[in-house]
Amino acid sequence: MHLHDLTIRKFHEGLKKKEFSAFDVAKTFFDYIGTRDQEVGAYLSVHKDEALKQAELADIKVAKNEPLEWLTGVPMAIKDNILIQGLPATAASKMLENYKAAYDATVITRLKSVGAVFLGKTNLDEFAMGSSTENSAFKKTRNPHDLDRVPGGSSGGSAAAVAGHMAVAALGSDTGGSIRQPAGFCGVVGLKPTYGAVSRHGVIAMASSLDQIGPFTKTVEDSAILFKSIAGRDQFDATSVEKNYGEELWNPKLEDIKKLKIGIPEEYFGPGLEPEVVKVMEETMKTLKSLGLEFKEISLPHTKYALSCYYIIMPAEVSSNLARIDGIRYAPVSGVNREGLDLEGLYRQNRSHGFGSETKRRIILGTYVLSSGYYDAYYAKAQKVRRLIAEDFEKAFKEVDVIFTPVSPTVPFKFGEKVSDPLAMYLSDIFTIPVNMAGLPAVSIPAKIKGGLPVGFQLIGKHWREQDILGIGQFYERLSG
Ligand code: GLN
Repeated sequence: MHLHDLTIRKFHEGLKKKEFSAFDVAKTFFDYIGTRDQEVGAYLSVHKDEALKQAELADIKVAKNEPLEWLTGVPMAIKDNILIQGLPATAASKMLENYKAAYDATVITRLKSVGAVFLGKTNLDEFAMGSSTENSAFKKTRNPHDLDRVPGGSSGGSAAAVAGHMAVAALGSDTGGSIRQPAGFCGVVGLKPTYGAVSRHGVIAMASSLDQIGPFTKTVEDSAILFKSIAGRDQFDATSVEKNYGEELWNPKLEDIKKLKIGIPEEYFGPGLEPEVVKVMEETMKTLKSLGLEFKEISLPHTKYALSCYYIIMPAEVSSNLARIDGIRYAPVSGVNREGLDLEGLYRQNRSHGFGSETKRRIILGTYVLSSGYYDAYYAKAQKVRRLIAEDFEKAFKEVDVIFTPVSPTVPFKFGEKVSDPLAMYLSDIFTIPVNMAGLPAVSIPAKIKGGLPVGFQLIGKHWREQDILGIGQFYERLSG
């Protein structure tokens, strides 16, 4: 096994047994990134000096025989909309091209306190808006399984870094699917935690009522381990909640898992699913049935409104969150000549020059649905529909414990295929968006397939029941090897 193929568990065990040093592993990753990332393009910036220093600290702990945390020394990649003090945090936007983070996001503080190593910051769609990473202002990220195809988005860089063996694990953010869809496209595991499980402090906000930070990993077990280490109440995020997540996350018991009933929502298996996806879903269900799990058909009747509802609420929040990105407060925008401009002129120049077209589209849409005269017709109405979508899940969860769906209706698509047609791009998130609207946890797991492109399946859980979806995932993983 190459060092860059390590999982969190294997890294942890190897470090404890002194099979390698954290320093050597980090160096191996940088060497590998130096060649492999020229074609994949997962990283926007790498930070070798800082990372090697962190790795040395981990090795000192090992030398002193101090107890090691799961993540001590683990080389990780961080989406470039999550702040690490002193490092760039561009959100893949020209607006923040020259910005250096003034403080650590809470998830970073937590990971630093257990000694994780940050290799670099990964590419994304500008301000996390998109499903292919094609909206990045800086570069293309390619799918490591097929370089002609997109890695998904918006956390395409984090997914590609893990899938391309350029990080042991990564963090991303998920507002409408941005962890789960790229995980599915790249054949890795992606978890969107329950809303409130992980602090949002220090993530560059997209739509605050929907955003959650979560892990990308090679195994479901690793996902559980990384999730546990970032979860918990934080005084800087009033929506965060303390839950006593524990070992049950990565140590599930088969007798508990067997009792879980799985719902199959008819609305997620209609026309529009690519035949390849259908086939993989059927095979996966067979495997899950062989674990002794019972399946039941359910209905989530308001699913058909989820996308239109999301494209009102999300842009409304985007337009207010991005109002502060003015090219003055955080960093100057390169290429804007300030001379002779009054304040309004400067805002105008910065924002028209610095934002990409998808970001502008959403700011304009959001401003429109919040404007007086339209607020009730659009925004207030969408909030009510959001409630109905959440109630669909509440009802379903009276009958079943977990819901099984595809992650995406299609396999990873080619560059340029959807980027000129926003609606086609938006439709690729149809199965992930309702989960954010309801604040539920969901995990995207690569289905085992012979050859072909990666296809992921999604397990949606009840609020705070990450252990159910991660538990089923871990037994699936063991069965499918
Ligand atoms: N692809 C979705 C969008 O464009 C979701 C983005 C996200 O989860 N950050 O809005």
